[in-house]
Amino acid sequence: MKNNLDEYIKKVETQLTSTSSIKPSMLEVGRVEEIRDGVVIASGLNNASYGEVVEFASGVKGYIIDLTEDRVGIIVLGDYLTIAANDQIKAVGYTLSVPVSDDLLGRVVDPLCNPQDGLAPIKSDQNFPVEKIAPTVVYRKSVSVPLLTGIKAIDALIPIGRGQRELIIGDRGTGKTTIALDTILSQKGENVICIYAGVGQKNSKMALVIDLLRKHKALDYSVVVNASASDSVSMQYIAPYSACAIGEYFMSQGKDVLVIYDDLSKHAWAYRQISLILRRPAGREAYPGDIFYLHSRLLERACRIDDKYGGGSITALPIVETLEGDMSAYIPTNIISITDGQIFLETDLFNAGIRPAINVGISVSRVGGNAQAKAMKQVAGKLKLDLAQYREMAAFSQFESDLDEETKKLLNRGAKVTQVLKQDKNNPYTFEEEIVILWAAYHGLLDTIPATEVEVFEKKLLETVHLRGKEILESIRKEKNISAETEKKLEALTGDFVLINK
Ligand code: ATP
Ligand code: MG
Repeated sequence: MKNNLDEYIKKVETQLTSTSSIKPSMLEVGRVEEIRDGVVIASGLNNASYGEVVEFASGVKGYIIDLTEDRVGIIVLGDYLTIAANDQIKAVGYTLSVPVSDDLLGRVVDPLCNPQDGLAPIKSDQNFPVEKIAPTVVYRKSVSVPLLTGIKAIDALIPIGRGQRELIIGDRGTGKTTIALDTILSQKGENVICIYAGVGQKNSKMALVIDLLRKHKALDYSVVVNASASDSVSMQYIAPYSACAIGEYFMSQGKDVLVIYDDLSKHAWAYRQISLILRRPAGREAYPGDIFYLHSRLLERACRIDDKYGGGSITALPIVETLEGDMSAYIPTNIISITDGQIFLETDLFNAGIRPAINVGISVSRVGGNAQAKAMKQVAGKLKLDLAQYREMAAFSQFESDLDEETKKLLNRGAKVTQVLKQDKNNPYTFEEEIVILWAAYHGLLDTIPATEVEVFEKKLLETVHLRGKEILESIRKEKNISAETEKKLEALTGDFVLINK
């Protein structure tokens, strides 16, 4: 009986399609019930799915982010003032994606890849979904190639590997963005595509970021995705995901990608605002219950793909702002637990002139050590120990007047290492320059000079090495190792240098 019915339906269908040029199609239609601050609550879209794009009567698009029994919550991707209550909504049947191509390099775009730099629209014949399930373990490879930031303190003590997720966390104005941007600057010639996603930043700050990248010719290998504080919360919510989608496009070509999310606190605020409008139950600090998932599904997309599946990697540097250094607040603890380590910046250090203001005691990198080059391991291991002992001693030796020689030596070494890890902004070092400076600190060349002279010493040492020790730099760059021969050459060069500068 059923077979007969199926056959009959098929017959009618073929008759219909063969005799008429009109083909049947289904359209999912709903109505606007409520509209508030960029978020629409609609009825009728019973078969719409999560993440589906909808179109309002005015032509503005929206994105479904909430499904309940009889309503759907939509964030508006455009001017929501054109939408009125009772307007018709069509579900278009596909999920949100962004146009991607190599054309994006050097451009400043909004989260939907519309240009913001006044240049031509992005030419593209491909779309990448904004939300995507992260690759599973089968496709992944462990982190083993370093991503050098050009910042001595980070490359030596908190090394980052390609495919890692390292959080940059600190109070307002402690130099978080500067670290991220310096990392982009130091990727010149390293074959790393950089994506900077500005979320909820002031337009003036974004202008400075773009200006800096342009001035250092770093925009050529970068993409800036901007959803500023003046943009709608919907755009701010989507910005990190679409930056990641752009990253995935470049990764799909087997390239290494660095994505910076500046910053995820503001992203969480945007999501909290959307959730409160959607009347989702508020939890701790008024954030909705799925706030952890908001960031974990984003950061999980950072990975290193196995060469069998095309290779490539996405390294994620999310930035989080703390209040009064409170790392135990909700968003910081969540993101600390998702990432593979954190670089913690402190206002006190920043104000004391120790910049970058990294607290090396509580900053960690859980996987980057595997990716650290041998040369760096040779010089950095001891420095880490020196610094740890220095911190311990410095705390209680403040009240002690007569210290034994051993302690004095330790304190002196620690103070000098702290000085040598200082670095001016927008001045990334090459790997071999870092090694030479840290080698000098490791061999106690700084012990005899006053702390105030360390900066000058460092500058002069670099000048001398560039002038007279080209083969030293060359061999460190090539071998990524300080061979016995190089060590001898370094000793000879620095021996002369110290004598001259005495
Ligand atoms: P916000 O919380 O406002 O985003 P932030 O933590 O991103 O701030 P930055 O904007 O990077 O901080 O830096 C704050 C100020 O400190 C800037 O004026 C920057 O130029 C300066 N600064 C940061 N790092 C250094 C450094 N290593 N040397 C000198 N100045 C620095
Ligand atoms: Mg900043």
